[in-house]
Amino acid sequence: MIVGIDLGTTNSAIAVFRGGGPELIPNALGDLLTPSAVSVTDAGEVVVGRAAQDRRSTHPAQTATAFKRLMGTTRETQLGKRRYLPEDLSALVLASLRRDAEAALGEPVTQAVITVPAYFNDRQRRATRRAGELAGLTVERLVNEPTAAALAHGIHERGDREPFLVFDLGGGTFDVSIVEVFDGIVEVRASAGDNRLGGEDFNEVVARLGTEALKLATPPAGPRAIAFAALVDAAAERTRRGLSEGDAAPFRLIWEGAEHATTVTTAQFEEAAAPLVARLRDPVLRSLRDAGVQSADLSEVVLVGGATRMPLVRRTVTRMFGRFPGVDLHPDHAVALGAAVQAGLKARDAALDEVRLTDVCPFTLGVATSERDAFGQLQAGIFAPIIERNTVVPASREHRFQTVQDRQVRIRFEVYQGEARRASDNILLDTIEVPVPPRPAGEVQVDVRFSYDASGLLEVDVAVPATDQRLRWVVSEGDGAEGSLDARRAALARLKVHPRD
Ligand code: ADP
Ligand code: MG
Repeated sequence: MIVGIDLGTTNSAIAVFRGGGPELIPNALGDLLTPSAVSVTDAGEVVVGRAAQDRRSTHPAQTATAFKRLMGTTRETQLGKRRYLPEDLSALVLASLRRDAEAALGEPVTQAVITVPAYFNDRQRRATRRAGELAGLTVERLVNEPTAAALAHGIHERGDREPFLVFDLGGGTFDVSIVEVFDGIVEVRASAGDNRLGGEDFNEVVARLGTEALKLATPPAGPRAIAFAALVDAAAERTRRGLSEGDAAPFRLIWEGAEHATTVTTAQFEEAAAPLVARLRDPVLRSLRDAGVQSADLSEVVLVGGATRMPLVRRTVTRMFGRFPGVDLHPDHAVALGAAVQAGLKARDAALDEVRLTDVCPFTLGVATSERDAFGQLQAGIFAPIIERNTVVPASREHRFQTVQDRQVRIRFEVYQGEARRASDNILLDTIEVPVPPRPAGEVQVDVRFSYDASGLLEVDVAVPATDQRLRWVVSEGDGAEGSLDARRAALARLKVHPRD
């Protein structure tokens, strides 16, 4: 059984494809969403999900949230006695979801499709894959979140050229993508966004309204201030969810033994949130422009992310597109459900037998080289694309390079991802050095082959015909941490994890 997992910044969810359709699996608390939060107790026990999220106000120093933002970096978080990489924290969330699925399905779960933001680069994708492996899962495939959301809404059952706009407002990020099927291929045609805009920002607005009405002052910087901020945020979150249901909602918190309560109205909230709403417009226009699609040509506008449950956001979307967005799925379930559809495709579930599904490389991959310009001058740092953006994956492309200096003994290739002509304006993924025999400039040739698989992972093969030498790299493998995955998996397995119930 392959499961589908939405590993979100704020919430994660796990789903399976069975009985002809995707289905979410509840966690031990009966919830379909598990907060992406990890906390370590004084006794050294690891707690994940709602319980960890709740400890944010009582034990801020022992609790980690939003670590997805750090994926692909080596920034460690100290919780209790241990330090954790972002992928370790993600692995703890994945392992928790995996245990929930095993309990619900009554069988071991060892394979998964995991979703990632469309803009995640190779490094971030690789870290996500490692997190899965650390959680004891074979990651069958990484799928772009908007692709998954579009699959959950049945894009693969439509014809070609039926663009979907996926409008995803989560806890802390806003992503707009244009997804389309072309020749049986589901592709993200364009994506734009604001990685500092989400439900949290709307919470801040409510928190300001609430604390101002209550004349509650923030304590000076320190542990008290952190605890206060967490309490206020939790109160604002409750208020905002209440406002999604009615015209007013209580804002209430208990601070240092005293209860403070007031009411926030929808009118107050919507007026104060206007500057945030204004920021939703630009990424929408940009994604349409980049995809060369008119708003009227959109086949469907799909709402994703819990924050699109806010009536204010729904109204804004309706106004922007002059039509009602699809509401047949809960916006915060769509990505996990779509991951399960992909898992079903992978497992060749009978119900999906007809569908062929591939993906495209979301960015150009290439190397930085030196070239002689028209005047014979050596120009360094020019980006030479090898696999172009939007190439159907898996893809394998070769490019031939030659030495540019007499008696040059090595060629250095910097592997980049991006669309800029100047290599340094792109994202550096890795550096590769290839020894070559010393000969006059231009006489030694080197063939560089890039192979990019369906999960967005890159392999580089270099051949030097003059010496018959062949070299192979898996780009950025091993970055992120010391030690083998096996050893790290064992270390994580030794952690005392709080039992499911
Ligand atoms: P992410 O993709 O960032 O992991 P989600 O899609 O689960 O997260 O979205 C989380 C956000 O959704 C939170 O900011 C939360 O406040 C918001 N949210 C969830 N339910 C509601 C609701 N009923 N009304 C308003 N906001 C909601
Ligand atoms: Mg999400």
